[in-house]
Amino acid sequence: MTEIQALVLTSGTPALRSRPSPAPHHPDDVVVRVAATGICGTDRGIVLGEFPALDGVVLGHEAAGVVQAVGTAVTEVSPGDRVVVNPTYTCGRCRPCRRGLAAHCTAKDGREIGVDRDGTMAGAVVVPERFACPIPDTVSFRRAAVIEPLACVLTNVEAAAPRPDDRVLVVGGGPIGTLCALVFAHRGVRTVLLERDATRAALARGILPDAVEVATGSGPGIGLPAGLLPHRPDVVVDTTGVLLEEALALVAAAGTVVVMGEREHARASVPLRPLVTSGVRVIGAGPYPPRLFEAAVDLAADLPLERIVTAAFPLAAYREAFAALGAPLEPGAGAGAYTAMKVLLVSDPELAGR
Ligand SMILES: [Zn+2]
Ligand SMILES: [Zn+2]
Repeated sequence: MTEIQALVLTSGTPALRSRPSPAPHHPDDVVVRVAATGICGTDRGIVLGEFPALDGVVLGHEAAGVVQAVGTAVTEVSPGDRVVVNPTYTCGRCRPCRRGLAAHCTAKDGREIGVDRDGTMAGAVVVPERFACPIPDTVSFRRAAVIEPLACVLTNVEAAAPRPDDRVLVVGGGPIGTLCALVFAHRGVRTVLLERDATRAALARGILPDAVEVATGSGPGIGLPAGLLPHRPDVVVDTTGVLLEEALALVAAAGTVVVMGEREHARASVPLRPLVTSGVRVIGAGPYPPRLFEAAVDLAADLPLERIVTAAFPLAAYREAFAALGAPLEPGAGAGAYTAMKVLLVSDPELAGR
């Protein structure tokens, strides 16, 4: 293979381009033949012009595939190995990294693939060895493509730190909210998922175990149906990222609100005295550190992550793929409705079936 296809951000719009097939440039480079890439809210934001990304960059960061070639210094993986890509590069040398706070690595800007480095919506991608994480044969590529969002979720679940008898309310039933509910349920935490969009609520119901109640919100704000919970939720995870005021009005005393969705312009006005007297914690968990990416790789063996994937399109059908996420690429079309949960862009149909 001398050329690969790649989905390149071109004057703000994705376009399929031919690129030379990549080879290792640095001794620690690993070339990964990509099976499939999940489309993330970030990718949706980029193509809608709501999230900044470098023009000319290859999009995509939630991917798994097979090692195709390695640099001279690579020792931990070999051609043919199945790997998932950790797209969040950390330097391992700055003060936060040295203090075990790699999620807040100061060298991270300019090191996020699919945003400001070439990503995975392509036939192949080059990553440093440390960020090509081996996966067992038992984890399909379809499942492995969901490991990266699972790492985001684990960071927030860890921050939520529910007590054994807590009741958790997850607000927003997109892939992240649904994965949150899946992880809480896996840990035996009583969980309710609220999703306004009837299509997504129905998809979430089909994915989650019966132990998770999926409710369709109504009315302003969070819209928790009256009588759904016997008492206020002890933990509220707001995956919409815009409902902090409502979450604070709802959460039980001594409870926790996790602000999860990343919304560039979201603001909140918070009455401070109730925050003090009720002992409520408000937490932004931040990006995942490498240790929680590894935890996600490990947990993927036990969780049916592939259920989140409700649609898959070949790379060339990227327009249909984004349209399924309410992000039509026609100029001036604006945001539309979701008809899918997690959508995969398949780089290699033969690999993606394995
Ligand atoms: Zn993502
Ligand atoms: Zn660092």
